[in-house]
Amino acid sequence: MFQKVLVANRGEIAVRVIRACRELGIRTVAVYSEADRDALHVKLADEAQYIGPAPSRESYLSVPAIITAAQATGADAVHPGYGFLAENAFFAEACEKWGLTFIGPRPDAIRQMGDKNQARELMRKAGVPVVPGSEGTVRSVDDALAVARQIGFPVLVKAAGGGGGRGIRIARSAEELAQAMERAASEAGAAFGTTDVYIEKYVEVARHIEVQVLGDAHGNIIHLGERECSLQRRRQKILEEAPAPTLSPEVRERIRQAGVAAARAVGYSNAGTVEFLYDESTGQFYFIEMNTRIQVEHPVTEMITSVDLVKEQIRVAAGQRLRLSQEDVQLRGAAIECRITAEDPDNRLLPSTGTVTAYEPPGGPWTRVDGMLYPGFKVMPHYDSLVGKLIVWGEDRSEAIARMERALGEFRIEGIRTSIPLHQRILASPEFREGRFHTEWLEQFLQLK
Ligand code: ADP
Ligand code: ADP
Ligand code: MG
Repeated sequence: MFQKVLVANRGEIAVRVIRACRELGIRTVAVYSEADRDALHVKLADEAQYIGPAPSRESYLSVPAIITAAQATGADAVHPGYGFLAENAFFAEACEKWGLTFIGPRPDAIRQMGDKNQARELMRKAGVPVVPGSEGTVRSVDDALAVARQIGFPVLVKAAGGGGGRGIRIARSAEELAQAMERAASEAGAAFGTTDVYIEKYVEVARHIEVQVLGDAHGNIIHLGERECSLQRRRQKILEEAPAPTLSPEVRERIRQAGVAAARAVGYSNAGTVEFLYDESTGQFYFIEMNTRIQVEHPVTEMITSVDLVKEQIRVAAGQRLRLSQEDVQLRGAAIECRITAEDPDNRLLPSTGTVTAYEPPGGPWTRVDGMLYPGFKVMPHYDSLVGKLIVWGEDRSEAIARMERALGEFRIEGIRTSIPLHQRILASPEFREGRFHTEWLEQFLQLK
């Protein structure tokens, strides 16, 4: 087992990883930018290394700065969290080159799944259904038009290197296609450094269902059930739950098996998530991408399986065999996660910054807060607006909903605006309570009010 892990991230996920390491008896190194000198992950780690100015490019995204910090502190492994360098194959290779174990999948698996185009191709070969669309990158508007005519409008233009809901544009007609391509490419160029785009059929009414997988370096791969992540704004998840509330037993089993097949196709090790779109009207589901890292919403799976996914990541990265077989995985009850963001629900959810003047997280049975705030902490504009996650478990979905409403009611954060009132509105809505929603429902619901 590792002696010392460097956590190459910030915010709630850095705190989450530090907690797992502490329980495993592993020492931790936090890294921090100028803006994060007083951050919680810095306080909780055994050691901390300054890695550069506030902009991520010069700190959390700087491979040399992070490798140097690991060398300086004698760390033997690096946990990348999510976002930043988590899906950067070059970083995973750099770690190896400098004698550090990257706590994640092999660089080639990151690379194959990171190019969403290549991933589609691989899935087709593995017999996992993909959304109808282009075979490979579309190089010109004419190419795109030919594909779109064949599969029918509307279509999505998607960046091959995309993530976090960016680099995706809809085209409802031939006239809209050129502009959609231009916009997807330029957004992707700025955010991901590659302008390659591909075309997918736009599935009008769909649910986002994803499968949590876990693999080791000895060829064992299991799934830990699925999550329902259809409540989104700008194609980013807001509230997630496990298990998915409305799947038939037959579809549920098939989608889980497809998740395992997808992971097997790249010889996957470590924790990963295979994302699907599910069309309830036809009963069809389609692979959209695989995230080769721990995900924001992993706690809902932890709550229904009693498996600590971050600890399992560390164990398999250290070469241990999976401790669970598929038969050992027992799913119990229902879990919900609300992403708490520093955004103003009364002002178009614009980012809210400032000093936290009061912070009282909820407590009680089966109530978990993965956070990073404390009274006096300054929320800055430099990074993602996620400041915490509230996760609850219940014997069934209705108990989980009641518990979440209770816990949200207790949660007091003052000095900044947060998304808590938005979650309260979602939980109170009949559509949510009855499980009648899809990936565009939340935006429609928000505009109605
Ligand atoms: P999840 O499925 O885990 O919710 P998201 O797509 O919401 O994943 O991304 C999680 C975090 O990672 C967010 O902070 C998001 O901004 C960031 N992120 C996702 N993909 C990328 C990427 N390719 N480059 C940089 N940041 C990313
Ligand atoms: P990212 O890498 O940014 O997470 P995804 O490919 O996972 O991108 O898509 C993000 C979200 O966009 C999905 O959860 C879904 O809501 C929507 N989406 C993606 N592809 C399609 C599609 N073909 N049809 C309809 N919605 C889609
Ligand atoms: Mg995705």
